[in-house]
Amino acid sequence: MLLCALWAQTEEVRVRLYSTNRVEVISLSVDLGNYQLMVGDSVLETGASDEVACQIRASAKGVDLKINSMDYGTFSSLRLHALDTACILCLNPQGAKQRTYEGDVELSALNSTALRIINVVDFETYIAGVVQSEIYGTLPDIFRIQAIISRTWALRNRNKHKSEGFNFCDQVHCQAYLNRCVRPDIMLGTLRSMGETIVDADGKLIETPFHSNSGGQTANSEDVWRAALPYLRSTPDTFSYRMRQSQWTVVIPRDKWLSYFANTHHLNVRNDSVRTKLLGFQQPERQARICGVPLTRVRVDFKLKSTFFDVSEGVDGNVVLSGRGYGHGVGLSQEGTIRMVGLGYSYDSIIRHYYRGSRLQYDDEQTSLYAAGYIAQIEQIIADDMANPSKVRSKKDDWLGMLFRIRNRQLREEEYDEKKAELEKDWNYEFSGTNGTKSPSAAVAVPQKGTPPAEEGEYNW
Ligand SMILES: [Zn+2]
Repeated sequence: MLLCALWAQTEEVRVRLYSTNRVEVISLSVDLGNYQLMVGDSVLETGASDEVACQIRASAKGVDLKINSMDYGTFSSLRLHALDTACILCLNPQGAKQRTYEGDVELSALNSTALRIINVVDFETYIAGVVQSEIYGTLPDIFRIQAIISRTWALRNRNKHKSEGFNFCDQVHCQAYLNRCVRPDIMLGTLRSMGETIVDADGKLIETPFHSNSGGQTANSEDVWRAALPYLRSTPDTFSYRMRQSQWTVVIPRDKWLSYFANTHHLNVRNDSVRTKLLGFQQPERQARICGVPLTRVRVDFKLKSTFFDVSEGVDGNVVLSGRGYGHGVGLSQEGTIRMVGLGYSYDSIIRHYYRGSRLQYDDEQTSLYAAGYIAQIEQIIADDMANPSKVRSKKDDWLGMLFRIRNRQLREEEYDEKKAELEKDWNYEFSGTNGTKSPSAAVAVPQKGTPPAEEGEYNW
């Protein structure tokens, strides 16, 4: 019964999905667990996998519902309500990529041709999905750090979309949440960080901006945004060297470069000293402006990866911008973090490196037993994968399915019998039961294909 009590203490959040897509029609099907299709408090249908396959379309009067091609009518809103701990819905919108999510999904019409799709989900499940969407890597501490900064951000900004009836959107405006977490190593990093947040000297949650790569020096917050925050100070960051996004080059016609400053910013580019500065601009250390023009503005107008670049004259009447890093440069560098974890730095020292004068805060109630039971199980899955390299790597579904069975069995206070053992064999791992089997430490790297951080655009796993 312990597991149920612990699930109950975690909070739910509302996240708008496909928030930058116009979705007129969407198909939903159940991948795992049991769902109820609800209209207000009334139940329309109940079903498990393949039994509830609905198609929902925006209309002038609300949403039109079809189940297995049968017309069910028009409703102001619908909710697919998860009946079990482990429930997965597959969302297949017309004109956008298929994704899967855990928890509930609510659908209503934004207007006559667009749906509003909200995922109502356990807070930590949301965080794990964000971590998967926001960073790449192979070591659990990378995910632990991303989980801590994403959790801190979410707790601080939970009212960002309050007036629209949800907490967060699924894009970088809030944090990318482009699928549910399917990787055991990401879930493990997230679980290990349960209850950990970053606070300032006064014990208040800090802003936790991050970017792909600082280029070797992070930026002051006031050089990118307005506020000068004491923990967002420019810092030397050689850990960001020699990574995927460490360097970039852009070639621009000289006339285009100069006329941009003349026309958009009214600089007198015929003046020798102005022209020399524009054509030979150097940043041995990060600057905020070029000839008085904010570099953040230049970055946007020329779609540059960063503001940390030098200018030199190239051949054929071009100028060459030689840049370092990717992103705004404030706060934590993700690739610097990946490198520091690989070099053996502790996760809290990495956080203090990028957020100066901050410290970690532990919520003992949250860290309590909630995570402990699951960490052992998920470590076991990863250890099994490592011990059987020829085996198809487990997905988080294995863990989720196992959890689902443990909880249900405890709920019903049933004995573990042979019949159930048979059922559990269809999962790709040896079921170790709830006897608290101690697993080997899971400071293990699960080899993954690398994908650049999601600064812009979607992630594909
Ligand atoms: Zn948002």
